[in-house]
Amino acid sequence: MLVIAIPVLYMTAKVSTMVMTNIQQYFPNPTEESVFMAKTASTLETLGFSGDNTLPIIAICRDEICASFVNAAERHWGNSFTLGGLAGLPFAGKTGLGAASHHAPDIYDRQRFVIYAMTHIGFGPDAEIGGCVRPGMEHLNGACGALIAYTEQLKEHKVESKIFTDDGEYGLLTHRLAKVAPTDSPDLIGVTKAALAAIRQDIDGLTTTVLDTQQADYAVFTGTQIHLPDGNYVQTADSWVVMNGQRQDISFNS
Ligand SMILES: [Zn+2]
Repeated sequence: MLVIAIPVLYMTAKVSTMVMTNIQQYFPNPTEESVFMAKTASTLETLGFSGDNTLPIIAICRDEICASFVNAAERHWGNSFTLGGLAGLPFAGKTGLGAASHHAPDIYDRQRFVIYAMTHIGFGPDAEIGGCVRPGMEHLNGACGALIAYTEQLKEHKVESKIFTDDGEYGLLTHRLAKVAPTDSPDLIGVTKAALAAIRQDIDGLTTTVLDTQQADYAVFTGTQIHLPDGNYVQTADSWVVMNGQRQDISFNS
């Protein structure tokens, strides 16, 4: 299989070495969000994607701490279609992606989409797992709140299998994670990685089912958004581009 290689991206922000070493045992190569975005854009530009001819579609968590990612994406690609819900799962589903599939510019040779699909997790100033610093808050807060809640319910064997109409999205989340989440000694890291696995699988299924590769090219970037006290980072995961129906992996590790 052909692989498009993107050079390894190095961190430049100022998190202490001890804290970063702690985090890297779970997420080995966190990249500053803006650097990640610029690299994905420049890579896709070599493949014919541009801010003029491409519609960005984003599946990240609703948490306002994630919003900088949308801002960074929209600076490169223009206004985005929101596909994601709690924890970043693409809950807008086939209907949502189906709608977006009709929104990309069609005055060019092909329609083009770039899709970013990520879950997220915070780390506190001392690398506290799930901790995050929010503006104006005195105490450490949590992220992802939905995944933290689910992890606690898993530990206590109190996960509800019913979906309630006044909490529908969380019901969908627990229903989806039940298929992938760790059951032995669940913890937030394991649940976060399970959420990413679900996102990766679901976005692959959705794009394959919905997007018409006869007339559209698209790129998918999956990963984990990581909130550190000095800003947001991205740990990349499976990424690929489909052009003229041919799929190529995009590698960040060479
Ligand atoms: Zn969240």
